[in-house]
This record gives sequence, C-alpha cells and structure tokens, in this order.
Amino acid sequence: MPEHRIKDQPYGTYSVYSALKTGLCVTCPRCGGMGLVRLQEGRYRFQCTRCGYGQQKKLSGFRCRVQNLCQSCGRFYNVPIYDQRRQTFPVLRVPCPYCGFEMPGRVEQTGQAVWYGGDGALRRGQDPIFGYDLWFLTSLDGKPVWALNREHLAYLIGYLSARLREKPSDWTGGRTQADDLPTLMKRAKNRERLVKKLQKLQQK
Ligand SMILES: [Zn+2]
Ligand SMILES: [Zn+2]
Repeated sequence: MPEHRIKDQPYGTYSVYSALKTGLCVTCPRCGGMGLVRLQEGRYRFQCTRCGYGQQKKLSGFRCRVQNLCQSCGRFYNVPIYDQRRQTFPVLRVPCPYCGFEMPGRVEQTGQAVWYGGDGALRRGQDPIFGYDLWFLTSLDGKPVWALNREHLAYLIGYLSARLREKPSDWTGGRTQADDLPTLMKRAKNRERLVKKLQKLQQK
C-alpha cells in the first residue's frame, strides 16, 4: 500500500525562503482573503488575491544567522538574526533553540531561512516579513500549527499520515525536512488529530 509509505524531503524543501519564490500564503489584513508574500527583484511583496491590496518592503532581514553545534545538548542549530543592528556584529551569543544553552557563534550571511519553528513570528503563526497571519493556520492544544503554502500543507499531511517514513532518496546523512517539525507534531498520539485539522485547512 504505497500511500502508507512516504519518503521525506531534503532539509529546507519547505522553508520561508523556498515559499517566497512561489508565494507564502498569508491572510490579507484588509479583507481577510488569501494573499501571497513573494521575494521579487530584491523586494518582499504582498499581494492579496481577493481585494488586490498590496504592500512592499525592502528587507535584508532574515538573511543572517548564527549557526552552531551546541556544546550542551550536541544538536546542530541555525538561529536567524532579524535585528539589523545585531546583524552587524561578527559574533553573537545566542541561546540554543533546543536546550537554551547560550554560546557565541559567528554571524553568517545566508540566502536561506529555514525551519518550521525557528522564527519568533512563525511561532506566533505569522509571516516573518509583514507579520500577517498565515493562511493555513490552525492549532493543537493551544499551540499554532501552520503550513507556508499548499505544497507544504500536502507534505505535512502526507508525512504525518504515513505509517512508514523514509529518508529522502539521495539522503547522505544530516537533517531532513521532518527534523524541522516540532515535537508536538511528531508525537504519535497527536498525529491523527493533527491530520484532520490540516485536512480541514486544505478545503480553504
Ligand atoms: Zn484583501
Ligand atoms: Zn543545546
């Protein structure tokens, strides 16, 4: 039964960065319809697909991060740095997102903004560019659960409802897309409820 098996995707397949190419789905602050946030010609653009409301922003924003191997819990992490003043420092002390241990790390320029839960705005269920509510947004036990766009939503449903989860085809070790998921979503006891909620979002 092939539908019970799923191959995971490479890490970062569904990230804010990748979604910005095709459109990160958000809720229009004017009409409540669906709008898209895209990165085009060095600008972040919001365009509502319903009322036509548009916004744009030039933002070097989230293309900066501190990457570290945590000395305390041993996990590898990326912490995006949004504060433009902090981005000018060569080294910053940041807490490990897994265990909170603080250590200095080099500030790097990056074209990638990854993760499901890495960014503060995403954790509140908002896009990190304009701060609008994500379009595919629901919650589980009071915690926001979201998808960046329809493809990401389909991936989450497929992954969470599969019985057998495999590493990506060309996997050579290291993190995969599913490593991005918060524990809340990976817990077996939550999966069925979660899939139902996500499927409801698909009807939006
Ligand atoms: Zn609108
Ligand atoms: Zn740690």
